[in-house]
Amino acid sequence: PIAIGMSRIHSLPPELVNQIAAGEVIERPASVVKELVENSLDAGARRIDIDIEAGGSRLIRIRDDGGGIDAEDLALAVSAHATSKIASFEDLERVGTLGFRGEALPSIASVSRFALTSRTAAADSAFRIEVDGGKPHVQRPAQHGIGTSVEVRDLFYNLPARRKFLRAERTEFNHIDDLVKSIALARPGVEFRLGHNGKVVRLFKPSATEDEAARRVSEVLGEEFLRNSLRVGHDGAGMVLSGWVGLPTASRSQADQQYFHVNGRLVRDRVVAHAVRQAYADVLYHGRHPAFVLFLELDPQGVDVNVHPAKSEVRFRESRLVHDFLYRSLHEALAEARAGAGPMPDA
Ligand code: ADP
Ligand code: MG
Repeated sequence: PIAIGMSRIHSLPPELVNQIAAGEVIERPASVVKELVENSLDAGARRIDIDIEAGGSRLIRIRDDGGGIDAEDLALAVSAHATSKIASFEDLERVGTLGFRGEALPSIASVSRFALTSRTAAADSAFRIEVDGGKPHVQRPAQHGIGTSVEVRDLFYNLPARRKFLRAERTEFNHIDDLVKSIALARPGVEFRLGHNGKVVRLFKPSATEDEAARRVSEVLGEEFLRNSLRVGHDGAGMVLSGWVGLPTASRSQADQQYFHVNGRLVRDRVVAHAVRQAYADVLYHGRHPAFVLFLELDPQGVDVNVHPAKSEVRFRESRLVHDFLYRSLHEALAEARAGAGPMPDA
């Protein structure tokens, strides 16, 4: 047995609490980008600018034109368990925003050199607060339009073991790029600009109509994806499923084009994966993977998002119902295509 250094129980200092929380949620620069972009979307941003330097290890800067934060709330925004998004247990049962844990900003700030600048429509000036490895500095007036900017420099500078695990600049940036693409898919009405080391890498212009939502999909996944997929639109059992499913003939050797969103949140879920696999069972060779971009909308009360710190998993309260609805919708769509096109060459 291991000898345990005995001491009295004590509460941990807040910076350490935040660093422990950061260990759960902030794995790499892309996790920072995910949390910050989700905050911008929750704030109603129509335009989000993302600037990255050195794969995110030197700088991650996100600027949005959302509602902003009141000057009096800036210090709270960077303190643990403070959120404007839920206030009660009932709210937790019907989360309508991407965030709700009140942990992202304090976690990120505890493992970086961090600055938050924000201005609301009601304020005459913006305010900026800086946090260095978890310690907030004075807040002061700053120049900024309505909206919010967050700067994250030198991620993990105070956790050398963690920083050592960052991969090559290119690899880290690719993770960020993939993440931005997956979020952009779900928000065709929002403009996203992603820059790396001073060069614009992605520019997704906002789309207002259904057809333009298709344009966003083709911008992100390529014309090829749209040409080889079927449009899905089904509702029933209080749920709406929309999006695109790939034709069996356009199946892939890897599951690299699978995007499933539940109420606007990209998730990985076994119930969903099973329903999709079953729907394609008769039309795909073993070992092939369908491509799809799907959006499921249901009553927030029907889905628990408080499953995992990274919020990329959900639990459906009536998982059987969801499974069967998905299976039927996809099966029908594929069957119609089959009837229309004659026998599938791949089947
Ligand atoms: P959560 O998103 O779970 O509430 P965060 O730590 O990510 O927790 O953010 C804390 C709070 O700071 C949010 O609830 C929100 O009120 C505010 N906030 C963070 N980012 C933004 C932003 N880009 N625009 C407006 N408000 C923001
Ligand atoms: Mg958040």
